[in-house]
Amino acid sequence: MKLYDFKKLSQKLDFLKYPEVNESRFEIVRKDLSEEEKRGNVTFKEDGIYLMINGIEHKGYMYIKKADVIQYGQPKFHITNCSVIQDQKNRGYFNGHYFWHNSNTVTIEDRNTHQLFENINLNLCGRCRELANIEEYRNTQGFFDLLDIQTEEPQNNEELDMFGYVKDWQQISKKFRIENEFTCDNCKIKIENKIDQRYIQVHHRNGNKLNNKRDNLQCLCTLCHSNIDERHTVNFQKKRSVHEIATFVEKYRDILIQIDNPYIKNY
Ligand SMILES: [Zn+2]
Ligand SMILES: [Zn+2]
Ligand SMILES: [Zn+2]
Repeated sequence: MKLYDFKKLSQKLDFLKYPEVNESRFEIVRKDLSEEEKRGNVTFKEDGIYLMINGIEHKGYMYIKKADVIQYGQPKFHITNCSVIQDQKNRGYFNGHYFWHNSNTVTIEDRNTHQLFENINLNLCGRCRELANIEEYRNTQGFFDLLDIQTEEPQNNEELDMFGYVKDWQQISKKFRIENEFTCDNCKIKIENKIDQRYIQVHHRNGNKLNNKRDNLQCLCTLCHSNIDERHTVNFQKKRSVHEIATFVEKYRDILIQIDNPYIKNY
């Protein structure tokens, strides 16, 4: 599956060139689900369990922190209020037993021996998979990969500080890219593959990211976007963006050459 190819490539790049740093586009958090529910920070939606942190909703999953791992094997992780979860609730085995997390792996503990199992890649609960109609992933690594590519990266720190604005921006950006049929306004490449549509980005023509009027926005592929001016070239030198351009170019090189993308010759 393509998702995993990307992951492998990115791991390879990590191994070859880059120091190991967490550059996920979202905050990695692990929280006691019951505690957060009590505080009113948790919303169950059909594709995940959303946790509000400092005014931002983060998407994640739930899993049991202490399970009978040795006896029954690794527990599943859940993204919905499925029948397994309902059953746990009815038996009084829900509150205090589940954690909310959004990372690729988890640490769990055997309930009886207290043995720790670290960096475990849990499998998705079958009921949840049916309920949410999920085909893109089957384990926490897949959940994380998809979350990572669905989360758009704000382009500077200014934006990061403006929480309300960032949330709003993701909707504006998504709508604008749909209207433009995920086509780059510069080189005209059109991306049909859903997962690859992250390569089509929304640029602010005058550089003012608070001006989201239509005539200030432009759909660009990540290669054109990164080359549009000097400021962008510098911004796109972050590890995450370098990966993104590399995977985009690797996959779409032939098309980019064919449509005469002005920057492809540099890659
Ligand atoms: Zn489930
Ligand atoms: Zn382009
Ligand atoms: Zn831009």
